[in-house]
Amino acid sequence: MQTSTAGESPPAGATTMPAKRPGAVAITLNGISKVYDGGTEALAPVNLEIAGGEFIAIVGPSGCGKSTLLRIVAGLVDATRGKLSKPSNATGAFVFQEAALLPWRNVNANAGLLMELEGVAKAERSKRVREVLAQVGLAGFEKSYPHELSGGMKMRLSLARALALRPDYLLLDEPLAAVDEITRDLLQDELMVLWRQAGFTAMLVTHNVHEAAYLADRIVVMSPRPGRITHVFDVPFGSDRTLALRSTPEFARLTGKISAALREGDKHVR
Ligand code: ADP
Repeated sequence: MQTSTAGESPPAGATTMPAKRPGAVAITLNGISKVYDGGTEALAPVNLEIAGGEFIAIVGPSGCGKSTLLRIVAGLVDATRGKLSKPSNATGAFVFQEAALLPWRNVNANAGLLMELEGVAKAERSKRVREVLAQVGLAGFEKSYPHELSGGMKMRLSLARALALRPDYLLLDEPLAAVDEITRDLLQDELMVLWRQAGFTAMLVTHNVHEAAYLADRIVVMSPRPGRITHVFDVPFGSDRTLALRSTPEFARLTGKISAALREGDKHVR
């Protein structure tokens, strides 16, 4: 059961979400649950309607099924029950916490990897690699190898590799958890710009309520395992966000509410 308190949006799935960007892909999860072989119940039924072009952040305690949810959306894991709806021709891309670069490939070759696997022609690959490396600030590093890159640069390359697919939806599983705080702030701003430019639908899993409130249109709070959605918060800050937003009372109020929702979910189960 989802709870709803003042300031939150109605329970997800109760209304049809208007597309934020015409043509961008909407994703709907209807009663999605997951029990792994061996009996671990990872997800209780989850209902969530994501509008085309929307940026959704998912927060919840470790092990509550956030990654499982993303993997189900990606088609990497089958749901035990429920229905996932997304356009069959939509292209998705996944960015993980680990940049997972191939050490023997240089930046250019790593950026083109997913396109190679998808069978994109060589000339097109070269063009897109140039574009995405410029977008993420890695122009000039084409010939460098992963061991020569900082943690932030590795993550930029991982993002570039995903963006080169021109994804309709991007799934981000704690992509910034392993970088230092200053780099994290920078990368959040870069991610926001990339999302605005490219217009993909985004699902971001994060432990960090500040990151969620800074980047997302809506924030979904999940309970401990089996994960279910306990709260959905609308983020009222518009699309023109800068770091100064984080020092405002409105931002503190929202992050306070999200943290309280996380604690409440935790209490509920223990
Ligand atoms: P989160 O991303 O919120 O940390 P996960 O989705 O990774 O949570 O995991 C949810 C639960 O499912 C955990 O108890 C985890 O151990 C279990 N789990 C995840 N993947 C598998 C798997 N392939 N097989 C069995 N259990 C799994």
